[in-house]
Amino acid sequence: MSQKPNIRSYTLDQLTGFFVQHGEKAFRAKQVYEWLWKKNVRNFDEMTNLSKDLRQFLEANFSIPYIKIRKFQRSTDGTIKNAVGLKDDLVVESVLIPANKRTTACVSSQVGCSLDCKFCATARLKRMRNLTPDEIVDQVVEANKQSLEYYGHPLTNIVFMGMGEPLLNYDNVMSAIEKITSEKALGMAARRITISTSGIPKNIRRMADEQTKVGLAVSLHSAIDEIRTEIMPVNKRQGGLKELLSALQYWYQKTKRKVTFEYLVFKGINDDEKSIKALVDFAKKVPSKVNLIEYNPIDDSDRFQQADESVLEAYKKALGRAGIMATVRRSKGQDIDAACGQLANKFE
Ligand code: SAH
Repeated sequence: MSQKPNIRSYTLDQLTGFFVQHGEKAFRAKQVYEWLWKKNVRNFDEMTNLSKDLRQFLEANFSIPYIKIRKFQRSTDGTIKNAVGLKDDLVVESVLIPANKRTTACVSSQVGCSLDCKFCATARLKRMRNLTPDEIVDQVVEANKQSLEYYGHPLTNIVFMGMGEPLLNYDNVMSAIEKITSEKALGMAARRITISTSGIPKNIRRMADEQTKVGLAVSLHSAIDEIRTEIMPVNKRQGGLKELLSALQYWYQKTKRKVTFEYLVFKGINDDEKSIKALVDFAKKVPSKVNLIEYNPIDDSDRFQQADESVLEAYKKALGRAGIMATVRRSKGQDIDAACGQLANKFE
């Protein structure tokens, strides 16, 4: 790893300060920033509107680390999975999911995860560290290139549903989103970005206060505290469903945006009438829609099994009667372990 500081960890203001301090014109910082974030060049020599001296000066003072795609896999359904090598050789995974004219990049926010959700493969990996903003942005840049190359159009959507809990890496995730949406950088629309969280009430409130323009999805999976805590221990640590609900109501009040609940239905765990009623009651308390997602088996144990289709129908019907929109999300990329909850760096 290079010892020189990462130039992409500097804000435009910091870069400008550095340039002025070294007797360069302030607008040079802006040019460099554009090369780094808009044109995404990876070495100083490509910054052709700078003098050779300035390029050499930058080269001597900074590095431009960049992720490396260590392994590329393409599913029979078109889904792409990348094993993404980071500056320190740790690895995360990112996924690209095509659907008609839409391509969604599913990006990671942490190496491993600290949450221990019982049904998720990433939980088996120890949380090693947070991703830096540039490592998050790079996944999007690569996904956009791949979308153009393999599907013939640019990336349309981004979801923070890869490895890690985005709201436990709040500052870096928000700084990456700023880069992804800023006209000075990638310039994508914030409303095409969704943060998926297991529910960190404090940071949901913070997001609401900061008027972040992104969508919010919450991995609920049960609206009964005991069951949710059993399959997602983070539930209890974060004050249970009561705290979560109150933060979500706050979110809606501030942003006027509906929350999406992600919900897995497991045989013998939450496939009964009581669970259905609890979800309907919970979802009625905050403007929301429900995404019933298909469980992707992560090992051979039979603790978790996808519930019968008839139970999904019962959920849909009950939610529909209460005026809550519910959709079923079919799984993609299972053959390459790229589906939700399957990201576990198996290539190693
Ligand atoms: N930590 C964040 C984002 C990563 S998980 C969160 O909890 O939302 C992305 C989504 O995949 C979540 O809704 C999660 O509950 C779901 N998921 C985890 N394991 C899964 C599995 N085995 N099958 C299907 N979905 C799974």
